[in-house]
Amino acid sequence: MNSSQDILIIGGGIIGLSLAVELKLRGASVAVLTADSKQPTARAAAGMLAPQAERIPPSPMLDLCLQSRALYAAWVERLEEITGLKTGYWRSGILAPVCQNESQEQVHLSNLNSHWLDRDTIHQHQFGLGEEVIGGWWYPDDAQVDNRALFRTLQAATKELQIEIIQDNAKEIIRQGNRVFGVETTAEKLQADRYVLAIGPWTEKLLNIPVFPRKGQMLSVCVPEDCAVMQALQTVLFGTGTYIVPRQDGRIIIGATSENVDFTPGNTPAGIQSLLTGAIQLYPELQHYPILEFWWGFRPATTDELPILGASAWENLTLATGHYRNGILLAPITAKLLADSMLDRKLDPLLAAFNYSRFTFSKLT
Ligand SMILES: Cc1cc2nc3c(=O)[nH]c(=O)nc-3n(C[C@H](O)[C@H](O)[C@H](O)COP(=O)(O)OP(=O)(O)OC[C@H]3O[C@@H](n4cnc5c(N)ncnc54)[C@H](O)[C@@H]3O)c2cc1C
Repeated sequence: MNSSQDILIIGGGIIGLSLAVELKLRGASVAVLTADSKQPTARAAAGMLAPQAERIPPSPMLDLCLQSRALYAAWVERLEEITGLKTGYWRSGILAPVCQNESQEQVHLSNLNSHWLDRDTIHQHQFGLGEEVIGGWWYPDDAQVDNRALFRTLQAATKELQIEIIQDNAKEIIRQGNRVFGVETTAEKLQADRYVLAIGPWTEKLLNIPVFPRKGQMLSVCVPEDCAVMQALQTVLFGTGTYIVPRQDGRIIIGATSENVDFTPGNTPAGIQSLLTGAIQLYPELQHYPILEFWWGFRPATTDELPILGASAWENLTLATGHYRNGILLAPITAKLLADSMLDRKLDPLLAAFNYSRFTFSKLT
């Protein structure tokens, strides 16, 4: 590549590609170096855009998530226009049922749209809920996107916009003083003026930045053809430990475990059993639906569960990692805020809360 591009993004997951598209649309020359474009975490996710159902307390993180949710409709519309593809963005709302012996508490945010539904109302709102559901919270502004379709759309957008994708593994980020000098890959050395690190759960393999994998197992079923329309699941069900995400094409995604097992691959009987038990309790009809697929992925987690965004210890390296459970939700705002800071030197005050320096190691090496 040899500096033919101004900006080199390391990592072509949803975060890397969203930023690449944003930078390119604003006139920057950008390339993406990525190890495996087929298996990013975006393939594994459920695609919920759920700052309220996730019960994120009032904080810069909630502000970041709400801003991103607000950007979503226009963001996917622009990607769909560029590519002619669909992303499955759906303002389905999210219902958070509460079962017997579970807490009814929610983070109370008076300025956000949420409604407590009692037993009768919730069962009218969504037909087919389990008997144990005694009420629940309805979040009409939370939404979902088909994360796999979104990722395909982003990949198509990079093609359409002629963003160079270099399929290779970054072995080392070469540093000189307070600058990054280049990136050593399996095949060559790449150089650019500026660099972005967006390799999600693998971050610690290249830099001493504390991001670690948190495994999530998932499965999907499909609605049988003879299922009456009025019985179909119309909204996401966000239970304690299990969620059920119906897609508009008839697939239903069930997730997700949360396991600290490093990068141990595979689905386990215990993981899948816990998901099915929780899902069938929430929506018993599911026990008869044909299973489509099992899979797993690794969330890029940090100890405070917040992303790491913006400046690094090297003046020409920007960090875009650690999005943990909300990387699909946070893609548009991450791309916007980082493009603002990299191209227009507009530093949103919100970014301060996500700076790498909040971690208590003295010097990153
Ligand atoms: C089970 C599960 C469910 C989830 N559900 C949701 C949800 O409902 N809503 C939501 O908002 N989020 C959800 N998430 C989280 C979301 O998927 C992630 O936060 C997001 O995908 C992270 O994106 P990323 O681009 O940072 O990382 P990744 O998608 O992991 O991309 C990193 C890329 O970097 C590449 N790479 C790695 N190492 C190197 C290297 N050395 N050199 C070059 N390239 C490299 C990888 O090949 C990969 O393509 C879920 C995650 C999981 C696992």
